[in-house]
Amino acid sequence: MPTLEESKKKVEELVKAKGFGNSPDDIANKLLFAFIELGEAGDSWKKGKPTDETIEELIDVIFYVLDASRLIAPDANLDEVFNKKWTKNMGRGYQYGEGFRSKKSSGS
Ligand SMILES: [Mg+2]
Repeated sequence: MPTLEESKKKVEELVKAKGFGNSPDDIANKLLFAFIELGEAGDSWKKGKPTDETIEELIDVIFYVLDASRLIAPDANLDEVFNKKWTKNMGRGYQYGEGFRSKKSSGS
């Protein structure tokens, strides 16, 4: 299985092979396309399409996210950033989740 960094390089290979936009000027569109693909995933899920179709739309999201990331910060190591962010989120309290909601509803 490829790492995020290996996947990013594969996306770059695809973009160059297909002649897709490959400059910083294309970043905004790639981020927009990631949202569009996310919408397609939501639509696929809502319509009860086979889960493999929904998953394929989510992979489209990942393609665009990886593509945008390499143009935004070519030297960023996404595997390192992922692990760093995972550790950070694991260390967080519950302020963004159920613990926060239950605290608010208790009226304190
Ligand atoms: Mg799609």
